[in-house]
Formats: sequence, C-alpha cells, structure tokens
Amino acid sequence: MQAILHSIKASLRRCQGKFAHHSSSGIAVTLGITGTVMAINSLGWLQLLEFQAFDFFTRQQPSVEQDSRIAVLEVAEQDISALGRWPISDEQLAELLEKVNDYEPRVVGLDLYRDVEVPPGLPRLNEVYQSMPNLVGVEKAVGQPVPPSPTLQSLGQVALADLVLDPDNRVRRSLISIQPGPDELKLGISTTLALHYLAAEGISPETAEDGSETIRLGKSRFEALGDRSGGYQGIDSGGYQMMINYRGGKDGGREVFPTYSVMEVLNGTLPKEALADRIVLVGVTAPSLNDAFMTPYNTSFSNRRRNMPGVFIHAHLTRQMLTASLEGKGLLGYWSEPWEYAWIGLWAIAAAGVSWRLLQSSSLRKLVPPGWLVFGGTITMGGAIVLSGYGLFTLGWWVPVGAPLVATVTMSVAMVAYHNQILERLALVDELTQVANRRQFDRVLRQKIQQQKHVSLILCDIDYFKPYNDTYGHQAGDACLTQVARAIRQAVRRADIVARYGGEEFAVILPNTHPELAEEIGERVRAKVESLGLEHSGSQVGPHVTLSCGVTTINEGHLASDAALRLADKALYLAKNQGRNCVVLRLDGGSGDAVNAISI
Ligand code: GH3
Ligand code: MG
Ligand code: MG
Repeated sequence: MQAILHSIKASLRRCQGKFAHHSSSGIAVTLGITGTVMAINSLGWLQLLEFQAFDFFTRQQPSVEQDSRIAVLEVAEQDISALGRWPISDEQLAELLEKVNDYEPRVVGLDLYRDVEVPPGLPRLNEVYQSMPNLVGVEKAVGQPVPPSPTLQSLGQVALADLVLDPDNRVRRSLISIQPGPDELKLGISTTLALHYLAAEGISPETAEDGSETIRLGKSRFEALGDRSGGYQGIDSGGYQMMINYRGGKDGGREVFPTYSVMEVLNGTLPKEALADRIVLVGVTAPSLNDAFMTPYNTSFSNRRRNMPGVFIHAHLTRQMLTASLEGKGLLGYWSEPWEYAWIGLWAIAAAGVSWRLLQSSSLRKLVPPGWLVFGGTITMGGAIVLSGYGLFTLGWWVPVGAPLVATVTMSVAMVAYHNQILERLALVDELTQVANRRQFDRVLRQKIQQQKHVSLILCDIDYFKPYNDTYGHQAGDACLTQVARAIRQAVRRADIVARYGGEEFAVILPNTHPELAEEIGERVRAKVESLGLEHSGSQVGPHVTLSCGVTTINEGHLASDAALRLADKALYLAKNQGRNCVVLRLDGGSGDAVNAISI
C-alpha cells in the first residue's frame, strides 16, 4: 500500500510541474472521492445502475444456437381455445402426459400447479403419475406457497417453481435449491431436470474438494450467490442461488428452445424425434394466464409483451446448467469484495490521472478547451469501463460497472474544480514567497475597509536589500525574501493577511485591530525577522537582515485604501529615517499627524 501511494505521488508530481506543492491535496481529493463512491456503492445506491449494465450485457451477448437437448411444450392462447377450458381436467392432463411419454423423453417437467382436483379423471391422472418416474411436478415454497400434487409428493417427484425477483422486479437469478429444515433439501425444477438428464450421462453432483459448500457438477463448480456478489449490495441471497446467463431468446426463449404446442401432441401431429430423449418442459405461455416475468430483455422502451413466460426462464436455467456441466462454460462468477473495491479504486485513480494530465497538457489545450478535453477523456474512459465490463461478462464474470462509472465521472468533475481552484489560487498568490500577491492584497484591503470599524496596516521593507543582493547574489536574495515572508507569517495572527507588496516590501492587513495592538504586532514582526539571524554583512544597521515597518489604522472606513497606503508608506519612510530596524505608527490626525516610534 505504501509503495502504491508512493508511486502515485511520484507520478502526480511528475505531471504537475509547477503545481508540485499541490500533489498531496490532489491525492487527498482522489482518495476522498474514491472512498465516497465506495461508501455509496456499499449502501446499495448504485445497484439499479449495475442492473442496467447486467441487462445491457445480457442483451448484447450473441444468441446461442437452438438447444436440441430441451423442448418446450406450450399452452398458448389458441391452445386454450382448442382445449375449450383452462385449467384442463385431470382426464385431459392424463391423456397429454401419456402421449408425451409415448415420445420417450428423457425427463418431463410439468410447470403447472395441480394441487387441487380438476374433475373428472383424478384416479386416471394418479395412475399416469405413478407410471412415469421421469416426471417432475412443481410446488411453490417461498412467499405465498402453492402445495404440490399429493400423489407426486408421495412419489418424491416434486421440485420448486419459485422464481426470485430482484428489487426492480426482474428475474436475473434463480434458486438451485433451498433447505427448509436441517435434513430437508428442495431442488428447483431446472436443477431437478438437469440432474435427471446428466444422470444418464454418468454425471452426478459432488461437494467441492476444498470442503466449501460449492457443488461440483461435471465440468463446473456452482458457486452460490452471496448477498453482495457482482452488482448486488445486500440482497436476500437465501438458499442456493445463481445468476441466470440468458443467451438470446428475445422472444421469450423461442429462438433457443424448440417450442411446440400441446395440441400437436394431443392431435398426434408432432413428429417422434421432436421430444425423444429430451428434457420436455410443459408450461403456459398464454398472456391471459399471466405467468410471465420481466427479465433483462425488457428494456425501458419495450412493454409487457416482452415478459418471458416462466417456463422459458426454467428452460434457460436448465440449459445453463447442462452447458456448464457438460462443456464447462456459461456460468457467471463473481469477484470477492476486496477485488471489487480494488477494481473500482483503480478506475477512480486512473480517471484522476487522465483528467489531471489532460488539464495540464499545454499542447492539447491550444486545440480544445480543457473542460472539453476532460469531457472527452471521461466519455472515453466510460466506454473503456463498459467494454471491459462486457468483456469480463462474456468470459463469465459479473463485475461492478456502475460504481466505476460514477467514480470516473465524479473524479473528472472534481479534478476540473480542483484545477480551477489551483489556477485561482495561482492568480492570487506570489509564486516566490507563497503569500498573497499585490492584486489579492488590494482586493482584501478594500473589502476590509468597507466592512470593518478598525483595520490596521503594516508596511515592511527589508533594510539595505540592494547591498544584500550585491553581496550574496540574486538567488540568495530570493531565498532571503522567502524566509522573511515566512517569518512575517509566523509573527502575525491567523486572521491577518500577509502580502508581498513590491520587490522586498511586504504588507500585513490586520482586521479589527486598534493602533496599539497593530503597533505591537508590527514590533513582533520586526523582532521575528531580526531573530532569524540571517547574515547580512552589507547592512549598516547590524550584522543581520532587518526590517523597517510603518503602521497605520483606518477608522470607520473614512479613508480610502490608497490614502491608507500613503499613510503607512509615510510611516515606513519615517522608520527608515529614524535609523531602520524599527516600527513607526502614523495615524490620520487631520493637520497634526500623530507619530509614534519605537527605535532600537
Ligand atoms: P532600504 O534600506 O532603503 O530599503 O535599502 P534597499 O537597498 O533595501 O532599497 P532599494 O529599494 O534601493 O532596493 C531594493 C532592492 O530589492 C533592489 C532589488 O534588486 C531588490 N529586489 C527587488 N525584488 C527582488 C526579488 O524579487 N529578488 C531579489 N533577489 N531581489 C529583489
Ligand atoms: Mg529596502
Ligand atoms: Mg524598497
């Protein structure tokens, strides 16, 4: 960490040039914003943005080829008309299942709630149930429960049809299983169908070698979703959940799964190979039955017609589990929290660096205003974040995208603001001595005189400075000016404003200060500079650098600032005349000016 901070500091310093002394506050701004974005992120305020990214990535993924391992038997609107009633009677359902079974499917998932009898024909239906060990019925266990068919329940051929809704009511994740009691495990319908299918391929679930609760199935490890995985922040991740990696199927899954009507089975028009050795999912797609859900395929522009029937959502998840187990791909993984924060932090720091560089670049600035440069840089970085997020998504990682985007934009705005602040400061501060410059001094003095009753002013001039330059050189002269400025600042109070008034002249504005106190502070300034003990062999006052000060006070704003300056200058002139290294107070006393001098 220390090393990283060090190198950031170094690189910031390199590209800062004359801004060098601002590098530590630049780093503070960068770290502050990064921390703030991370805090906002962990509160879950960016979750909706992450959902948008997830949905966008899902829609961008190329659609997969039609999956011949799964077939969907749908009950569409026209099937209900043809059947003449809904729900169909137990008799009709028994006939349908028998006919489906004649196709010799590997396993049949019946995604219909049949907890109550629909006469006539329950005895026959129960017989069919008992004759089909490859049939799985459903129940709903979470929220408002719907019990399973008692017969299928007693046969142990029941799975969960529950779908998990995200805070924005979309289905992005699913239940692999839940554990209602210590020795009880309920599997989701997709899990059950996939396990049935895979059993015939000789694949069965194993617990992971590392002793974690992850399940290994064929070529993949199914890592349980945590409450802060990927873009989630504090969701209810109860049970064993995983993200659904929808692949295509904008039309509710029809593009991915061969879909047939139940009427084709009942009428015997469906060819044998359509269902043979497949996973067959029976479910309703008729809009009037309202068993459809919002998914990543619902854009804000599309309407409810885009909703995906539950049976297709189960089909997608089943396909995902088969592909993961047999081909070792198609699952979405997540980074651990520290990695996610490192990822967000790196983008934030990169954004700070890029914006800063663009603001400093003198060659580009000639072509485009710096604000536009940063805007362009931010857009480019945003594009890079989305692209790398998508790249990782296609590689099977769901990483935060919204948080880095927010961090980048915030950082760029902050850097522009910070840069402007530095420029403003540069315009007001004397570069050599780092005290206020003449412009700032004039402005503040005018302002203070207007606002306050008593404003005092000290003008200081270094004694025999020309000989100092002549003796020690101009560079040493500069160093001396810097030290004298620092000494003056140390001698005055926090609220007093020290400025470089001219070459080797300094001025101090003392707000709300009476003459007596002003004179005292002037003396403190003089003594402080003398106590620096800076050698000055060319001085005729003593062996060290000394200062002469003229002090004045403006009462009730009845003097304009230039008149006040003239008075202070007069006092300074008197101080020089009285032998230098002394403080002279001069007040506006009408005709007879009051003069008070302390000489050493
Ligand atoms: P006095 O005691 O009467 O003030 O004598 P002095 O020599 O200090 O007065 P004078 O005004 O003649 O000289 C001021 C000198 O300050 C002249 C100039 O070379 C020097 N000076 C002004 N600005 C700077 C600066 O930025 N750096 C350096 N090194 N010298 C400066
Ligand atoms: Mg001088
Ligand atoms: Mg001078």
